Amino acid sequence: MDSKEPLSLSIVVPVFNEEKNLPELYEEITNSCKGLDLSYKIIFVDDGSWDLSFPVLRSIQKEDLKVKVIRLRKNFGQTAALSAGFDYAKGDIIITLDADLQNDPQDFALLIEKIREGYDIVSGWRKKRKDRLLTRRIPSAMANWLISRITHIKLHDFGCTLKAFRKEIIKNINLYGELHRFIPAIASNIGVSIAEVEVNHRPRKHGKSKYTVFRFVKVILDLLTVKFLLSYSTRPLQIFGVFGLASGVVGGLIGLYLSYQRLILKVGISGRPLLLLAILLIVIGIQFITLGLLAEIMVRAYHESVDKKIYFIREILDSESEQSSE
Ligand code: UDP
Ligand code: MG
Repeated sequence: MDSKEPLSLSIVVPVFNEEKNLPELYEEITNSCKGLDLSYKIIFVDDGSWDLSFPVLRSIQKEDLKVKVIRLRKNFGQTAALSAGFDYAKGDIIITLDADLQNDPQDFALLIEKIREGYDIVSGWRKKRKDRLLTRRIPSAMANWLISRITHIKLHDFGCTLKAFRKEIIKNINLYGELHRFIPAIASNIGVSIAEVEVNHRPRKHGKSKYTVFRFVKVILDLLTVKFLLSYSTRPLQIFGVFGLASGVVGGLIGLYLSYQRLILKVGISGRPLLLLAILLIVIGIQFITLGLLAEIMVRAYHESVDKKIYFIREILDSESEQSSE
């Protein structure tokens, strides 16, 4: 990307019951964007809040053409909220951040600089993280280490929402479940360059965190899915098939040995535990191979239906009249 090229910026903010944080957040984002030499739009996605977040956003939006509000029909979760924001973002660069003022909008410049250097994704690293040690920082450190080992993506902090993406990357990724923290890993599938920058992190002033320590377990299960999708999603039979064949071959050999004993040596085999093992291994082998084939069929069905939305919108407030996604 040429550094002189005029770029536009979309800022996507997932919001779930953050009424007290929104006015200050809006001020901070606006101040930071005014210091940048590019056009911008702030997209707040109200993820089914039941406090005053939506009315607060509506009054902010009324006063400022640069604000768009997408209101989801219910609480779909942070990944879905981000996904809705991405679908309606039009900027060349898309920045995401939390609504609770824990991320600092002053860091936008840092992220954009890296994108201008040529990176496709720039991820924030909350090096001095202001969260609880036992329930947050330790599980998160373990998860980050594991994700990094398994996906081979060298990041210290996958969970930091403050990230910047080139539009063409984000538009080509389909998110579901709680996979937003794995965007860099999923994107690695299409070939991307990823940079990491240290960003500021602040304690939560108002409202409560929406997650508990159980998120750790979900993240680990998500990691399994991501690894499977990344490595075998186009050829599931290659993973199921190996186990199936191994099991079937061992079972078959044991079966042959027993048949030899029964037919040639005329030894009775009815009471032999080995017989049971042979049958079990052969059945497991057949099951694994058919499971692999079924998975192959499902993968094809999946690839044809990836356009499905994971959120439903109640209304969109935007001063620019058109409301369609790109
Ligand atoms: N969030 C959301 N939908 C949810 C849960 C969270 O949009 O179902 C938003 C929330 O408002 C915040 C961001 O996602 O802007 C991160 O949530 P939180 O601060 O609770 O997570 P933590 O910082 O504790 O990891
Ligand atoms: Mg937070």
